Amino acid sequence: MDVVLVSACLVGVECRYDGASKPSVSLIEQIKCSGVVVVPVCPEQLGGLPTPRAPNEIIGGDGGDVLDGRAMVKDSNGVDRTENFLRGAHQTLAIARLLNTKTAYLKQRSPSCGFGLIKRGKEVVRGNGVTAELLARNGIKIVAVD
Ligand code: SF4
Repeated sequence: MDVVLVSACLVGVECRYDGASKPSVSLIEQIKCSGVVVVPVCPEQLGGLPTPRAPNEIIGGDGGDVLDGRAMVKDSNGVDRTENFLRGAHQTLAIARLLNTKTAYLKQRSPSCGFGLIKRGKEVVRGNGVTAELLARNGIKIVAVD
């Protein structure tokens, strides 16, 4: 049976920075009917960050730049969280490999899970989150969910 990873906040897990979830009713309906095994993951929690936590932002680029050492992640208190984001991305990739996952449904605009768009301050800019970029670089199909 196929296994898909899903950003945990999209399926009702209260793992967001503010301690809330962001369930997508349409995604939940879609995956309930699809017969796949759904594995919820929260890369920021997997990276060792608490919930709730200060919101984070990629500084100086996007997730690809963080992976390549050209950008960093800081929380709203100015604390460098780059190592947490890298750890969470690699932990998520390890889970994907363990389960032979080919597809991940990820929350748009997040500095971890965003794919195509990420939030910067009050703006939304083009780019990928750290985990989305790492999964994509390793051949996993990303479906962005908003
Ligand atoms: S890291 Fe991903 S799964 Fe976790 S709260 Fe943010 S968007 Fe949701």
